[in-house]
Amino acid sequence: MTLIAVTKERRAGETRVALTPDAVKKLIAAGASVTIEAGAGAGAAAPDADYAAAGATVAKTLAAALKGADILLKVRGPSPEEIAALKAGALVIGLLNPHQERATLDALAAKGAAAYAMEFVPRITRAQVMDALSSQANLAGYRAVIEAAEVYGRAMPMMMTAAGTVAPAKVFVMGVGVAGLQAIATARRLGAVVSATDVRAATKEQVESLGAKFVAVEDEEFKAAETAAGYAKPMSAEYQAKQAALVTEHIKKQDIVITTALIPGRAAPRLVTAAQVASMKPGSVLVDLAVEQGGNVEGAVADKVVETGGVKIVGVANLAGRIAADASALYGRNLSAFLGLILDKAGAVAPDPEDEILKAALVVSGGAIVHPALAAA
Ligand code: NAD
Repeated sequence: MTLIAVTKERRAGETRVALTPDAVKKLIAAGASVTIEAGAGAGAAAPDADYAAAGATVAKTLAAALKGADILLKVRGPSPEEIAALKAGALVIGLLNPHQERATLDALAAKGAAAYAMEFVPRITRAQVMDALSSQANLAGYRAVIEAAEVYGRAMPMMMTAAGTVAPAKVFVMGVGVAGLQAIATARRLGAVVSATDVRAATKEQVESLGAKFVAVEDEEFKAAETAAGYAKPMSAEYQAKQAALVTEHIKKQDIVITTALIPGRAAPRLVTAAQVASMKPGSVLVDLAVEQGGNVEGAVADKVVETGGVKIVGVANLAGRIAADASALYGRNLSAFLGLILDKAGAVAPDPEDEILKAALVVSGGAIVHPALAAA
């Protein structure tokens, strides 16, 4: 029988866990057995007793949790001590951050493990249920607005009271992927006046359908700035200058700016300069979701609120981790759906090497890094 292990996340500040007890039940029903390292779910409101009730074995130590494990499920890439404790031929699945954390992939290859990166699951209809980038980005987008509301010293909605009227907050969302769309929806629900920008023309209609205003230079380059896979392309210097001029005027009038812009495999684009930050009114807030990938906002620091000229720049490295119970539950469902491609009807490890989802997500196999996007790096 296939033995699936879930260990504690060892990365500082990582509160999520790869499986919640609900996901454990599903995998056990699918014929696998599951071992959880004690305390693995503590940051996500999932106590050991709930895992035991779901049918998992709770192991006291890392070594016990990994003993004989065929598959290790992680949120982040495994630590060196976890890799050392893996059995040869084990399979590791997680958000491995393959472009930035190559050393982890090298160590997995040296160990003779195989690894799938959930980031590389293609965004095709059949894989939607496994799309961990989306499940986590959606919650991060929601949480970004909550973080902004917390440090913003004013109210989000308009309030007409006997003592006077409170103006609604003006919120500007930069980057309208999954996180940005949820940020727009959340800010609208809180009563803010919302605008948004993106380099992909397709986002204009999505922004408007959520009741927000679209702000962008809509030239020919803009109309062609989407890859076949639906991601943003890096923009030319000319476009960036035109867009920066438009944004400079817009940002001055905003109370809250939320940035979510990413380009896969590259550092995050710089969208807000220190001068633009300085142009904002005291009391304004910026939340930078891309801070872990280098940051969209000049001056943003991971896990710090930086105050400059009365403006606060909030950089939370792991926003999904601040809503860890839901983030873990959705991620666990992404993983159990992905495992549906790896386990056969009897619960044995039998991945179909020709499955396009597995092919796209496989990063380490046969002692080497095998993904084409990583080959030249
Ligand atoms: P992402 O996290 O890669 O980037 C966030 C946003 O930043 C994107 O909208 C991107 O266009 C934008 N951006 C990049 N550079 C920018 C710049 N200089 N200025 C302004 N904005 C900039 O994006 P994501 O959330 O992963 O979504 C990417 C695409 O994938 C979207 O088209 C989304 O709808 C699509 N998607 C499809 C599926 C599916 O079909 N299964 C699932 C999820 C997402």
